Amino acid sequence: MAATDPDCLFCKIVAGEIPSTVVASDEQTVTFMDINPATRGHALVVPRTHAADVLAIDPDDLAAVARAGRQQARRVMERLGADGVNLLNSCGADAWQTVFHFHLHVIPRYRDDPLRLPWDPAPGDPEEIAGAAGQLRGEA
Ligand code: AMP
Ligand code: ZN
Repeated sequence: MAATDPDCLFCKIVAGEIPSTVVASDEQTVTFMDINPATRGHALVVPRTHAADVLAIDPDDLAAVARAGRQQARRVMERLGADGVNLLNSCGADAWQTVFHFHLHVIPRYRDDPLRLPWDPAPGDPEEIAGAAGQLRGEA
């Protein structure tokens, strides 16, 4: 995979060909504001090198994004007065991914903000849970 995909929106943002509001950057990553913020201060951390998703990204770039994401999490707590923060990644269209250049959402959370868990936590069937675990361990 080439370092840059000419058809990729976030590659264009990294290259400065499309405007963005950058908060921080380093050798491997750029952190910029999301144009459709879920809450005040919502930002995205991306690797400079193109990779479609978490399955494709170079592990060293993934580590760099994790480091930059934690720095951004600290910033939103300390500078925006957030009460908490969600780090979110979507992999695949069925998992809500819409831009296919890996990105970590850093979403500041405020005590009374409107965001809610996208699932209703409820006890699962123990056999079904164990069955999934067995498949994940590679049994049968
Ligand atoms: P996802 O749905 O996880 O792939 O997230 C893609 C995110 O990129 C969404 O939250 C969009 O609001 C955001 N986004 C799309 N275009 C831009 C842009 N030009 N600048 C900043 N954020 C963008
Ligand atoms: Zn890209």
